[in-house]
Amino acid sequence: MSVAVAIVGSGPAGFYAADALLGKLPGCRIDILDRLPTPFGLVRAGVAPDHLSTKNVIRLYEKILDKDGVRLLGNVGLGRDVSYDELKRLYDVVVLAFGAEEPRRLCVPGEDRAGVVNVTDFVGWYNAVPGARDCAPDLAGVRGAVVIGNGNVALDVARLLAKTAEELARGDIAPPAAAAITAAPITDIWVIGRRGPVQSSFSFPVLSEFSGLVEAMALVDPGQLPADASAAEEAERRKKEKNLQVLKILAANSADDKPVRIHFAFCAAPVAVLGEARMTGLELMRNRLEGNRAVATGETFRIDAQLMVPTIGYRVSPIAGLPFDSERGIVANRDGRVEPGVYVVGWAKRGPTGVVGTNRVDSRTVVELIAADGPKAGKPGGGGLDELLRARGVRVIGTADWRIIDAAERARGRDARPREKLATIEAMLAVLDSEAAA
Ligand SMILES: Cc1cc2nc3c(=O)[nH]c(=O)nc-3n(C[C@H](O)[C@H](O)[C@H](O)COP(=O)(O)OP(=O)(O)OC[C@H]3O[C@@H](n4cnc5c(N)ncnc54)[C@H](O)[C@@H]3O)c2cc1C
Repeated sequence: MSVAVAIVGSGPAGFYAADALLGKLPGCRIDILDRLPTPFGLVRAGVAPDHLSTKNVIRLYEKILDKDGVRLLGNVGLGRDVSYDELKRLYDVVVLAFGAEEPRRLCVPGEDRAGVVNVTDFVGWYNAVPGARDCAPDLAGVRGAVVIGNGNVALDVARLLAKTAEELARGDIAPPAAAAITAAPITDIWVIGRRGPVQSSFSFPVLSEFSGLVEAMALVDPGQLPADASAAEEAERRKKEKNLQVLKILAANSADDKPVRIHFAFCAAPVAVLGEARMTGLELMRNRLEGNRAVATGETFRIDAQLMVPTIGYRVSPIAGLPFDSERGIVANRDGRVEPGVYVVGWAKRGPTGVVGTNRVDSRTVVELIAADGPKAGKPGGGGLDELLRARGVRVIGTADWRIIDAAERARGRDARPREKLATIEAMLAVLDSEAAA
């Protein structure tokens, strides 16, 4: 009998855990569950549609899916189709790899006004994530857009809002999102950071892209740029210095050169969303830095904006029965151990930090612990789950089904667009049904 493993979540952390487990527990059988019918987590559902090369890592995950003993069980949600307790009863080892999908809230008055769109919905909309279409933002009257946050997700959102139809066509953006963005009368986009440029979490290649946008000019107030990055931690200083160089180049740009302006504004934090039913503007407080800390100055200012996307981080959505660290918004764990036989990896373990590759190291480290704990075979495993899901009428999307969906999406792609994603579960099931009928 072989050790039965359930991995919940088919994002990078889940795949790296599966790969490492195959090496450490030879002969183990691994079921990778995902609540979505499609695998690959945020590599498919989060990474920006114009960052195609980042998505090449999917080729590696596809190879893992082909390995003996590995099954994909898409369209199976923990807490929806199977409970945490049931999974523990069925599998010798459970690895939680379900990411952190709940966006952190700003907690400012007016945050619920139309025009304020949470980042999971916004990113899901342009990435054609099933369900996100229902949250499509109304960009028709949007002249000003504000993105709150100073990480790469903020840069993704600002950059995509600024792109032309031709620029957007060189990726796998959902066509309705591309059409809405290019039809919107946007002239000004703000990227707001509560602290300074040295404290921002931008990465150099993503920030550098702001020099080459066809119709948008990035602007920075040179007065907001420190002379150097000496305020950064030693280990980070070189990286921050490179970003500062990019911002200094952008600070020399002129506002009149292109029809769309992207304003990088540092040391400012939203205090109220203005308007009645719909957002018409944003009131912000100017901050000053004390060391690396932002301190409110009491001075406020306003910007005219009809769209706001806060990108200030994510939390795990709690699941019944699962130990939860509500302060940090993660699954409660000690170095990845949750309780006997249960482990956690990736964003669900450590919160929303790092890039795709960070999860490789993280998952490998946790798999070392799993192997050291010496799991024994004995529980029903996949056969037991199959029976339970059949009884509940759950339509499981396996690896072969995913490959049919993948081929259909690729076939819909044209020119520089590698694929056109199917945006609803119904459309995916229809493709599978017509293939089965053929
Ligand atoms: C908008 C955005 C853009 C990013 N862009 C980049 C980039 O360009 N480059 C880069 O290196 N990194 C990028 N990252 C970071 C990178 O995506 C993450 O480091 C990585 O995806 C985290 O991996 P994970 O497996 O922990 O979580 P995820 O990738 O989120 O995977 C979790 C999986 O679990 C599934 N799931 C969730 N809940 C359940 C449930 N209850 N039951 C079953 N399944 C469930 C989800 O559907 C998902 O497939 C980006 C992140 C975001 C948010």
